Amino acid sequence: MFNMIDAHIHWDAYSPGQRTGILDSLDTHGIRAMIAVSMNLKSSRETLDLSVMDGRVKAAAGFHPEQELPSEEEIEELFIFLDQHAESLVAVGEVGLPYYRMQDDADFELKPYEELLERFIVKAKSLDKPIILHCIYEHAGIACDLLERHSVQKAHFHWFKGEEAILERVLSNGYKISVTPDLMYEEEIQKIVRKAPLDAIMVETDGPWPFEGPFQGKMTHPRMMGQTIKCIASIKKLDESEVAERIFTQSKRFYGLSI
Ligand SMILES: [Zn+2]
Repeated sequence: MFNMIDAHIHWDAYSPGQRTGILDSLDTHGIRAMIAVSMNLKSSRETLDLSVMDGRVKAAAGFHPEQELPSEEEIEELFIFLDQHAESLVAVGEVGLPYYRMQDDADFELKPYEELLERFIVKAKSLDKPIILHCIYEHAGIACDLLERHSVQKAHFHWFKGEEAILERVLSNGYKISVTPDLMYEEEIQKIVRKAPLDAIMVETDGPWPFEGPFQGKMTHPRMMGQTIKCIASIKKLDESEVAERIFTQSKRFYGLSI
């Protein structure tokens, strides 16, 4: 059994029954912690409450970019929430840019999302917390511009997707990426794992997001990361336990977890 940390899960999006079932089975599967990201202010509050109920749930607060922008009032409340609960939160996230939302809309205005992302970057830096980014393809480049502008080091590009040049830029800045169970069946992700050094890779589920291939029709459970780790080991031709241990250690360190 591997020691594992789910570096990105939407814990508040599971039903109470599902959460109980998952929590009861975490030890069996070696899941030592889960980085529970939030969608908005309400979700940030719920996620923080859930983290208080079980120490293995580590809360992050933020605003998911693939939705209508929040009101200025909500943004301000969210920033106050971040300040007030900084001690209990492990990171700022999920934040980023709305790649999927703008795909079918030629008139989409990205600028306000970039401005909001920059405010979150500044906040993460002032709180000295890692930032969890939903920034894929060309948006990863925009995020790098903003992170570099504010000299932010601790950035995690969750479920990273993008061309080689963008991946290289992310890696050369020392940022982390994470991969989901879709590594089992997505060639695009396998290519990224081949290119990225093991020290830059974390594993996650983005649960309850559902997966295909061997996971078709199954509720997304952090134990699925066991297969992701085996897949990384086979791509990198390394020992599975060694890969698991290194990913565990660097995830723990990145998020400053004392587990
Ligand atoms: Zn997510």
